[in-house]
Amino acid sequence: MNRRNFLQGTLAGAATFSLGASPLAALSSCAAAPKKSDVSLNISFQEGTAPGKDLNEKLDYMEQMGIVGFEPGGKGLAGRVGEIQKALNGRNIKVSAICAGFSGFILAEDPAVKAEFDSTMREIVAAAGELGSTGVIMVPAFNRQEPCMPHNQATRDYLCEQLHELGEYALQCKTTIILEPLNRKEAFYLRLVPDAAAICRDSKSEGVKCMGDFWHMQEETSDYAAFMAAGPKYLQHVHIASRGTRKMPGEDGVVVDNYVDGMRALKEMNYQHYVSFECGTNGDRAVTLPAAVQLMRSQWEQA
Ligand code: MG
Repeated sequence: MNRRNFLQGTLAGAATFSLGASPLAALSSCAAAPKKSDVSLNISFQEGTAPGKDLNEKLDYMEQMGIVGFEPGGKGLAGRVGEIQKALNGRNIKVSAICAGFSGFILAEDPAVKAEFDSTMREIVAAAGELGSTGVIMVPAFNRQEPCMPHNQATRDYLCEQLHELGEYALQCKTTIILEPLNRKEAFYLRLVPDAAAICRDSKSEGVKCMGDFWHMQEETSDYAAFMAAGPKYLQHVHIASRGTRKMPGEDGVVVDNYVDGMRALKEMNYQHYVSFECGTNGDRAVTLPAAVQLMRSQWEQA
C-alpha cells in the first residue's frame, strides 16, 4: 500500500467511525445516502378515491390499506379544518397536499381575476398550514383561462416575483405552494417538471415547490430525469394515475402503467413526501383500488 492509499484508507475509516459515533454527523452532507430499500412509499388518496359514504368511512378504508396520506380539495377548506382534524385524530393518516380549489389565476390579465386568486389562494394556504399540509397545489394558467398574460420573459419574471411573495406567505403559515406542470392540452404554460423546478429556484423562496404527475408526465422524455431535476430541494408531491386513460394505476396494463423509472429516482433521492392518487376507474372500485395499490407497492420494490 503506498502512502496515498494508506491515507485514504485511514480517512475513510475515521469518517465511518465518526458517523457511527455521532447521530448529528449522520445529518451532514457527508453522510452516506440511505439504502433504497429503506425509503418508504407513502401513498395518499384524494377525497374521491376511497369508497365510503362520508369522510370517516373513507379514512377507515384507507387505514385498513395502509394509506398514510389524505389530499383534500382546497375549495371551502377554511370551513373544514375542524372537521378534518377531528376525522384524522388518532389515525395514522396525515393531510398530504391540498388540491387547488382557488378562484381566478395568478397570470390573469384582468386585475379583478388576479385579486380573486390572491385572496382565495391565501385563505386556502392558511387552512393548509393549520392542517399540517405539505403544500397547496397550483397551476399558473390553464389553456382555457383567458385573457392570460403573454408567454414571454416579462411574464416569467412577474410570475417569479408573485410566487416569491406567495411562497413567503406560505412559509409564515408553515406550509408551501406546489407548482404542478400539466400536459400541453391542459396547460401549455407549464408542462415539464424541470421547468417548474427552475421557476421554484428563480422565485427565491423556500416556500415555492413543485410536483410531478405521472399522468401529465407523458410530456417528459424521462420520468427519472424529470424527478431528479427537481430533486429533494423542490419535489414536494407526486400524483399517480394509469398512463393511457387516467384511471387506476394498472387499468391500462402493466406495460403502459410502468412507474419503475420514476420510482427509482424517488428512492435514490430519499423522497419523503407522498404519491397521491388522482384518477377515476372504469371498473369496480372495490377491485381496481386494492389492485392499483398492490401494483404500486410491487413496482416500488422493483425500483
Ligand atoms: Mg395532478
